[in-house]
Amino acid sequence: MLEIKDLCVSYGAIDAVKGISLKVNDGEIVSLIGANGAGKTTTLHTITGLVPAKSGSITYDGHDLLKTHANKIVTLGMAHVPEGRHVFTRMSVQENLEMGAFSLKDQSSLGKDLEMVFDYFPRLKERRRQLAGTLSGGEQQMVAMGRALMSHPKTILMDEPSMGLSPLLVKEIFDIIVTLRKRGITVLLVEQNAKMALSIADRAYVLETGKITMEGKASDLLHDEKVRKAYLGA
Ligand code: ATP
Repeated sequence: MLEIKDLCVSYGAIDAVKGISLKVNDGEIVSLIGANGAGKTTTLHTITGLVPAKSGSITYDGHDLLKTHANKIVTLGMAHVPEGRHVFTRMSVQENLEMGAFSLKDQSSLGKDLEMVFDYFPRLKERRRQLAGTLSGGEQQMVAMGRALMSHPKTILMDEPSMGLSPLLVKEIFDIIVTLRKRGITVLLVEQNAKMALSIADRAYVLETGKITMEGKASDLLHDEKVRKAYLGA
């Protein structure tokens, strides 16, 4: 289980996250929705050790993540699919995926793991030798997700997977997130596409200018008047 308590994060004088608490139970999809600048990415970056916290706590399966180095956090079973994908553009698709396995002490399952990723994303198999920088946005999202899967994660943090993708591709990517959960992977999903994020999540939190303003069952939030007006264009 991932648990955040009273987390505050600042960039110099800018308070980006102002005392949030949230929980992600094993096997859940939890969505964190909110407008631009609400602090969603900052929250994910703090969980994975890329940005320091000012105060509060983050624990994951009993480990204090605020005292754990980013590269150790991966070995605890937490993978991060960053906003904007950040694929290694001058490396092939397969090399990108192999980079995701760097944290594994035992590399003997590399071949099998690649096949597992190609099973999720057949399009990547056809393009395994193509330079990742020449892929479409949707294909790069698949590489970023596949790279995360190569580290055998128990939990995946996904930052805006729908960004810049056509509705058809968004559906494809979200279907895969649902499949990941069916196979036992826990997902914390940050999204501006609130409709899609709420439609696949078990629970959700609404973040507004660094504070959690609403939380509950995703299906309840999807039908909530305030959420519909603010985030669903209703
Ligand atoms: P978006 O959906 O636009 O990505 P977000 O909800 O993920 O937004 P964050 O990226 O976490 O929001 O940003 C929260 C606040 O922190 C914003 O006001 C942003 O300008 C500020 N911020 C983020 N990164 C930095 C940084 N490296 N230095 C200074 N301020 C930052």
